Amino acid sequence: MKKLIFIYSIFFICIESSSANLVKFSSIQELPSGEISINFKLDKVALINSYALNEPSRLVIDIKDSELFEESETRQNYPIKKIRTNQDGTSSKIVLDLYESIYWQKPTQEQTKNGVLLNLSLKKDKNLKKSTRDIIVAIDAGHGGKYPGAVGPNNILEKDVTLLISKELERTLRDTKGYKPLMIRDGDETINLNDRYQNARKYGADIFISIHADGFRLSSVKGASVFIWSDEASSTIARNLSDKQRKRIQADIKNLLPSDFDEDMARKTYPETYKNKINQSKILGTKILEQLKRDPFTKIHKQNVEFADFRVLKSIDIPSVLVESGFITNPEDANRLKGKPGRRMIARSIFLGIHNYFQENPIVGTYIDNNPNHLSYEIQRGDVLSEIAIRFGVTIDQISRINNLENNTIYPGQTIKIKI
Ligand SMILES: [Zn+2]
Repeated sequence: MKKLIFIYSIFFICIESSSANLVKFSSIQELPSGEISINFKLDKVALINSYALNEPSRLVIDIKDSELFEESETRQNYPIKKIRTNQDGTSSKIVLDLYESIYWQKPTQEQTKNGVLLNLSLKKDKNLKKSTRDIIVAIDAGHGGKYPGAVGPNNILEKDVTLLISKELERTLRDTKGYKPLMIRDGDETINLNDRYQNARKYGADIFISIHADGFRLSSVKGASVFIWSDEASSTIARNLSDKQRKRIQADIKNLLPSDFDEDMARKTYPETYKNKINQSKILGTKILEQLKRDPFTKIHKQNVEFADFRVLKSIDIPSVLVESGFITNPEDANRLKGKPGRRMIARSIFLGIHNYFQENPIVGTYIDNNPNHLSYEIQRGDVLSEIAIRFGVTIDQISRINNLENNTIYPGQTIKIKI
């Protein structure tokens, strides 16, 4: 009998360890840059909700479906008073009590040899009245590496066009305070669909923008369209596109690692979260489409946000939109997407759409939420005012006026205000 209990408990422990996501404190250190880096170890990537509270100043990290190795309360050095951890039902809660407001970044969850490293990074900032963080925008350049995507006249490849548009958007977001771009691919790399949205989660993306260019057997079909995910694709074209992806999707599902986040399972566990994400995706998609319609160079293929079964958009909680920037198989569109001015217009429409979305649906405690009146753009080497004006859809005059620029002079490192 004793032996049986022993075997039973081993069996039980095995089951336990395979399902629970154990959260364990790992380290805290102040880097030479002044950044404070706090690490926890997880078994697998989790659904995380993180936010700052004021008066008294605190940071809260809520790790869903996980178990704390131990509940604890430890005193820390300035600006952190203490770090507390406690089990709250099926969630692990990490609370940082702070002496003052700080600039923080959403936690990242990186895969290491010893499991997943949850990293929280924060920085002292005497000027802050409230704790503040950046908005992380995942930019997913479609295709890449061994997958060229659609092919247009003169062998123009979709994968090259999508990367160049993505880089334009990255630049605008990088140099605008409060936004942080996350490039899902940076070069001509092969990245499977699964890794694309897994990485968006791992690096704390607030929204996910996938950039593509259509292809069709009739070269007369042209124009840009915007998609969000749906079980039932809403148009025939959307359904056709989805079919093409089906085989790839099956292969990609097999690539799910034990430490990856299971989006399919999470959609069943948190249906309300998912419903909210779909609604937000629709608002975000509409904002981007509105801007594309204003762009004098871009023709619109579909007047409304379309639905399609694009797996990259299926994250449970990250609003996700796919932009087809035009038909690469149409000579007019191909010409537009081949040149920098045409690509810049697409990137600008996406940026303005994103910014409008966050102006109307702010994430509490982000820099954009705390500074709603204007954008702060840092001038880079090689920048000229006329290009900046095009980038943000404003005039040189407007920039000059609100920044009191004498003779329109700008210099690298200077921060200018942009009012949209
Ligand atoms: Zn594509």
